[in-house]
Amino acid sequence: MAFLSDSLKRIKPSATIAATQKARDLKAQGVDVIGLGAGEPDFDTPDNIKAAAIAAIQRGETKYTAVGGIDELKAAIAAKFRRENGLTYTPAQCFVAPGGKPIIFNAMLATLNPGDEVIIPAPYWVSYPDIVELLGGTPVIVEAGMNTGFKLQPDVLEKAITPKTKWFIFNSPSNPTGAAYTHDELKKLTDVLLRYPHVWILSDDMYEHLSYDGFKFATPAQVEPKLYDRTLTMNGVSKAYSMTGWRIGYCAGPIELIKAMTTIQSQSTSNPTSISQWAAVEALNGTQDFIPTRAASFKERRDLVVSMLNQAKGLKCPTPEGAFYVYPSCAGCIGKTTPKGRVINNDQDFVEALLEEEGVACVHGQAFGLAPFFRISYATSTEALTAACERIQRFCASLR
Ligand code: GLU
Repeated sequence: MAFLSDSLKRIKPSATIAATQKARDLKAQGVDVIGLGAGEPDFDTPDNIKAAAIAAIQRGETKYTAVGGIDELKAAIAAKFRRENGLTYTPAQCFVAPGGKPIIFNAMLATLNPGDEVIIPAPYWVSYPDIVELLGGTPVIVEAGMNTGFKLQPDVLEKAITPKTKWFIFNSPSNPTGAAYTHDELKKLTDVLLRYPHVWILSDDMYEHLSYDGFKFATPAQVEPKLYDRTLTMNGVSKAYSMTGWRIGYCAGPIELIKAMTTIQSQSTSNPTSISQWAAVEALNGTQDFIPTRAASFKERRDLVVSMLNQAKGLKCPTPEGAFYVYPSCAGCIGKTTPKGRVINNDQDFVEALLEEEGVACVHGQAFGLAPFFRISYATSTEALTAACERIQRFCASLR
């Protein structure tokens, strides 16, 4: 349609959002679907956080706030970074946006000129390359495949850096693979980055609190303090505190960048919802006791799903360190035919046939830049996961 912009042509709808919506629609029509597409915790927002939001409404905290967040939340963010990551930021270096995506949007819009390159390891969260493309940058995709535990190797990173590289986007634990970098693995990447002072680092730490088997989380500015002046460390309350619908993402970084992002937000969304901000203050300052309990339950679900998927014919599922995703390979199913006569040529065919023939919704790997795989979100009940994995096993066994 001639009316639409050229930028729109560069992007596609978010595959994770599309898969979640499709499962929601089918369920509303009464179809028996188990949704493993949505990347959000099934747990409810804790009561102390809800109570803080209700109290904020009752106090009349219902007006515009400072564009980049209320002082109380910026202070809570600075305290969080100090307490949990050993990172010192002043409240003025902290910034709040209506979710993680707007943080990335603001940062990229504030810094990218046409032709600037952004290095993104694949598999990647679907929105990174599209945000970069939408804003006129050039995503440079580098492979972090299954043979290296879905972790980017330092030589691969180094080869991708050019004089035009502006950003390196780092995400650990990863959406979609759940892979998480140890301190030493990350140090090897930060050693490379140290040699290229023109490259900035955006560290997406959204899944920080979801890791298992004693894994110790690390973030680039902490592992290599010399990168502090060119690192934007981002996080949010969505995953750790089950607050996806409240839309609060936050970050901290060099003051000039934060000011530029604030200017952009002042001309776009203005402040994130005042009530959600007060809820986020309680999330960060209040009790953290439920986090390990919930993580323990995610770990049980991860183990269940990994074990059941590895018993499915043609699938191989590595055990990830964190997040609530697994990213199995379906290479062994490619080229086969379903009982209904559908030929599986790629992971999208696999995922579509699985939905239509067995009622299990997940997201195809091509959307995350590495095929043939698919992403399963195990943030749902053990009963639903068991039933879904049984269906997947039956589906895989039925392929000829
Ligand atoms: N991060 C979640 C996911 O990957 C939420 C949906 C989205 O924003 O992509 O499913």
